[in-house]
Amino acid sequence: VKPRIARGRQFFANPGPTNIPDSILKAVAHVSIDFNDPAFLTVYDETVAGLKRILKTQHDIFLYTGSGHAAWEAALVNLFSPGDSLLVIETGHFSESWGKMAKDFGLDIRTLSADWRRGADFAALRAMLAEDTAHAIKAVCAVQNETATGMELSIAETRAALDAAGHPALLLVDTISSLGSLDFQMDAWGVDVAVAGSQKGLMLPTGLSFTGVSPKAMAAHKTSTLPKSYLHWTNMLGRRHKSFIGTVPTSLFYGLQESIRLLEEEGLDQVFVRHARLAEAVRRCVRHWSGNNGPSLFCANPDRYSNSVTAVLMPEGYDAEAVRKVALGTFNVSLGGGLNKLGGKVFRIGHLGDLNEPMILGTLATVEACLRVAGIPHTPGGVQAAIDYLAEAARAG
Ligand code: PLP
Repeated sequence: VKPRIARGRQFFANPGPTNIPDSILKAVAHVSIDFNDPAFLTVYDETVAGLKRILKTQHDIFLYTGSGHAAWEAALVNLFSPGDSLLVIETGHFSESWGKMAKDFGLDIRTLSADWRRGADFAALRAMLAEDTAHAIKAVCAVQNETATGMELSIAETRAALDAAGHPALLLVDTISSLGSLDFQMDAWGVDVAVAGSQKGLMLPTGLSFTGVSPKAMAAHKTSTLPKSYLHWTNMLGRRHKSFIGTVPTSLFYGLQESIRLLEEEGLDQVFVRHARLAEAVRRCVRHWSGNNGPSLFCANPDRYSNSVTAVLMPEGYDAEAVRKVALGTFNVSLGGGLNKLGGKVFRIGHLGDLNEPMILGTLATVEACLRVAGIPHTPGGVQAAIDYLAEAARAG
């Protein structure tokens, strides 16, 4: 039998990069333009203002040609000096990776340990901060949405823990898989550095990342001694774009202009409601499958379910990669894999960005077919649970 050749659109259910709307694809397909051309500068200034509205900040932002890792690195090298202590709130693979990067720069990392399925305990965070009476901890690093586990961390509660302890540490927040999908309020939550990237909630190609930076963080920057050049905020401030030491990725800004237009046309609050609705449909489906020793929700703390990605835990003895292989090879559906110690144990359904009910139902129906093909125990009919929920939500308006 000839192998199948994929036809039709690939269903892309990865938690990043995400689906790029046609109008953004068209906008990105822009001819080269001098990045100092007044026509481009207008687009540039408008998009930077738009990003501030999305971050909900009045503060400055710095942008980088690079993925989220570049923005992580920019936050670290611009704020700290060798030996400085940071407190990383453990959420999963991405909190661990950010901490590892900080170690590579000679920073001292303390970790608030947490069960990846239940999330960090804020009382323990308050206690750790209160114990640090010498204020050795220079910053708390928090990942708002842990993409590896499908769990959200409340940034408002993180801020409250710092305030309760009267601790002056900076608050650094990774919003890479939450910005434009889950509510984020940089200024209201007292965030000093917000790290974000283009390829998730903003629905753009990968390659643009940025940081919102508070005045308190800018003051810390002035005394930081870690080596930096390309990502140096002070160097950037001297340039017209107040970012980008080299060539500006102009085409991404045309895409960004369209992305901001789409998000604001729908309204950010409505965008969050849509994400919550689609996420709940996914969870209802997975809960149904979990009967008969089927795959279940990895996140075991309903207060912290992520509305942008769901990690699905395989039953003991079954390999998540087998499901992903059938999904991609047979049905042309791209699912996210398990990261770090979750490799083979979970697959992830991304439900963020440019997504609607038929796309989510198509993915869920196909995953259910994959479970059958791969011989994974489950209770069939999870998709019906998702249909019931989505139909009811549509009827309620
Ligand atoms: N932080 C989170 C929460 C992420 O989900 C990712 C990527 O998926 C990163 C950081 C790393 O970003 P990038 O892959 O854009 O470098």
